[in-house]
Amino acid sequence: MQYVYSDVTKSNNFFGNSNPIDLIKEYGSPLYVYNERIFRERCREMKNLVSYPNFSVNFSVKANSNLHLLKIALEEGLNVDAMSPGEMFVELKAGFKPEQILFISNNVSAEEMQFAIDHNITVSVDSLSQLELFGTINPGGSVAIRFNPGVGAGHHKKVITGGKETKFGVDAKFIPQVKEILNKYNLKLIGINQHIGSLFMEGNAYVEGVKSILSIAKNFENLEFIDLGGGFGIPYHKQDNESRLDLTTLGEQLDSVLNEWTDSYGKKITFKIEPGRYISAECGVLLGTVHAVKINYENKYVGTDLGFNVLQRPIMYDSHHDIEIYRESDICSTKKEAVTVVGNICESGDIIAKNRVLPEIFEGDILGVLDAGAYGHVMSSNYNNRLRPAEVLIKEDGNPILIRRRDTLEDLIQYYNI
Ligand SMILES: *Cc1c(COP(=O)(O)O)cnc(C)c1O
Repeated sequence: MQYVYSDVTKSNNFFGNSNPIDLIKEYGSPLYVYNERIFRERCREMKNLVSYPNFSVNFSVKANSNLHLLKIALEEGLNVDAMSPGEMFVELKAGFKPEQILFISNNVSAEEMQFAIDHNITVSVDSLSQLELFGTINPGGSVAIRFNPGVGAGHHKKVITGGKETKFGVDAKFIPQVKEILNKYNLKLIGINQHIGSLFMEGNAYVEGVKSILSIAKNFENLEFIDLGGGFGIPYHKQDNESRLDLTTLGEQLDSVLNEWTDSYGKKITFKIEPGRYISAECGVLLGTVHAVKINYENKYVGTDLGFNVLQRPIMYDSHHDIEIYRESDICSTKKEAVTVVGNICESGDIIAKNRVLPEIFEGDILGVLDAGAYGHVMSSNYNNRLRPAEVLIKEDGNPILIRRRDTLEDLIQYYNI
């Protein structure tokens, strides 16, 4: 086979002892492929972010909740965040202990809160009314609160989760009311958290956000933890040599802020972070097949099986993903051209890459969509009654194993009473 355009995966030996053509033959197209070595590397980079001793990395599993990857994260010493009972359920199945899980709730029902309480999982609430609800169903209990420090950051307005225009967290001006509710139900506030947004590439915005939550934390005695949030960005433009987030500088800045704060607080409490994308995005490549190439008026379209049912990020957030090309045949071309890479879903917004300059692509080529390991398979759907792809892991020894099977046609009708 020819690696027509594949510098990124070549440079990190992504496919190990296998290759994209064989993987598609064996497991079907489209296909999510993960690399265990890269996943573990990212876990370790986050664990070693600071030298501050009481530091917990909570993988935000909404980015990728594949059970096999969760088990690897557990082996690497990570803890986890959950956004729903389903996530808590899967995390417990993966082997995480209740004390390793933080339920970051948002507008949840009493039953959902009760699920966490019944499983001894710490709940973080994100409004005064949900704090009231927690007090009603678990008086005398321990609780955490998500604050909104009034600042936000992120790559798209849908993922900026702090700041004055978002639904998240408790406005710090309500601290007196928070204290009233805590007293009323004899609740112990053990932690506070924030998450101001996703995909920052400069550490400074994060450190500023950290300072905000630390100044809020000063209002409460006897906290056990402060959770600083996730959002650590990854370079999605690797083919243009985009640089990585400078973790060394960020770590040093954080260390000095955290140590200074705990010195004045008088207690080396635990600091947590909640990276999702940083842990899993780069360990994933989505493979798909080119089924048709055509010219419509001025535009050349590359038609693939990579619809937005398989990868939602481009249509949802206008996200960029680099694309590689692999070829089984010996067709050769030195031409480069702007093409629009589309899927097979009946909607004109079904576009993975618009006007992207790529080496000439032919029918039968396999495309690799890079950095698809976060918010990829977890957001895939059966829209158009298509089958969600299988997930394969390239193990550390370089060999592939199936870690989630592809949907079957029978799966599509399993929920009907027929
Ligand atoms: C989504 C989310 C994260 C993870 O965001 P990333 O950008 O993937 O790091 C962390 N914390 C909370 C509360 C979230 O909702």
